[in-house]
Amino acid sequence: MKILIVGAGIAGLATARALELKGFEVDIVERRSISPTTGQGIFLLGNASRALAMLGVLGDVFDVAFPIDAQRILTSRGVVINDVATQTVWGDCGPCLALPRHKLIDALQASMTTTKVSYGISVTAVRLRDGIREVHFSDGSVDEYDLVIGADGIRSAVREFGFGGRTPRALNMSCWRLVVENHNQVDAWTAMLGKGHTLLAIPLSRSELYVYADCPVAQFGDGSIGVLQARFADFGDPLGPIIAALDDKVIAHTARLEEIPAGRFIDHGLVLVGDAAHACSPSMAQGAAMALEDAIVLAACLAQNGQIEQALEEFYKRRKGRVEWVQQQCHARDKLRGAADIVRNLVLRNFGDALYARSYRRLAQSL
Ligand SMILES: Cc1cc2nc3c(=O)[nH]c(=O)nc-3n(C[C@H](O)[C@H](O)[C@H](O)COP(=O)(O)OP(=O)(O)OC[C@H]3O[C@@H](n4cnc5c(N)ncnc54)[C@H](O)[C@@H]3O)c2cc1C
Repeated sequence: MKILIVGAGIAGLATARALELKGFEVDIVERRSISPTTGQGIFLLGNASRALAMLGVLGDVFDVAFPIDAQRILTSRGVVINDVATQTVWGDCGPCLALPRHKLIDALQASMTTTKVSYGISVTAVRLRDGIREVHFSDGSVDEYDLVIGADGIRSAVREFGFGGRTPRALNMSCWRLVVENHNQVDAWTAMLGKGHTLLAIPLSRSELYVYADCPVAQFGDGSIGVLQARFADFGDPLGPIIAALDDKVIAHTARLEEIPAGRFIDHGLVLVGDAAHACSPSMAQGAAMALEDAIVLAACLAQNGQIEQALEEFYKRRKGRVEWVQQQCHARDKLRGAADIVRNLVLRNFGDALYARSYRRLAQSL
């Protein structure tokens, strides 16, 4: 079976690794000229760790990650309204970890034994010709594949060619992401909620802190550090002072949040994985976990079924419900975050643990 993976992000690399473990050979192309060596943090819940263990890379990731034992939600003044011990839900599944995003990519890449990523090459067209996928590349070459796996992110070209019309939907939130020194010794996932604004910090190590902040698009202005400081000027300890102290030359990554509306992600000789199939708001921190799980389930379906189309149907059947659940839960969380402070704080204070368990327990169970 001749297989092409498009994109060497978390989904593409994990899929290559999972297929290698099942004895498949794959080609993998990546538009960027090199793998990223810097960047933002990423938070992995227990189902992501379980998937990493199944891919044989959890040890390497664990060595460069910070364990997250608690997820704490505070008001903008710093009053704790919910504090969950992550192991109450994820204990039997896997550890919750935070690490620099590029180190996760490095670990996945280092795990591959035979597959080599072709960097600096993008896919420019995918066509169905006599039951085979004909793929056009940016270097002018054309090749044929039995299966094309689109792991090319939220703006997927593969999705565009195979599933035209499924375009990203804007979520009316914009965000800043940056890594700063962990002066205040923040030791847990810590979110502070204001009126339509969220400020989140996750330790990547004893000395480094990954900060995420968001607000409605209309209040994002030019996305400068000055705007970030103005939006969170009334936030108290422990995170408010970190934002207030930022040098305006600090580089923050900014983005407008988007999602890919639920829909079919398989077609003849074509399948989407990761964000290309089901990007959603980051409020469940499930992007990496879903990409890693896609990889494992797709490889298992292909190994079990001789027929590609049967394998893809099986993959879709196994993943659809989980994808829909994560998207629904993201919407519910985003709605609650946007509710009036008094209602939101009351709900989180009284039902925060139960809501956490309800949204994640299903994902902690088997794949
Ligand atoms: C603000 C924010 C915070 C987040 N925080 C978290 C978090 O804490 N935890 C978590 O689990 N998830 C988080 N996520 C989600 C997570 O980042 C994504 O789900 C995950 O990175 C998806 O990986 P991917 O491989 O599917 O896509 P991508 O990372 O987008 O990778 C796609 C790759 O395909 C390449 N490519 C694109 N087009 C082509 C082409 N035509 N030809 C060849 N190559 C191509 C790209 O260069 C890229 O390398 C967050 C998302 C956002 C927006």
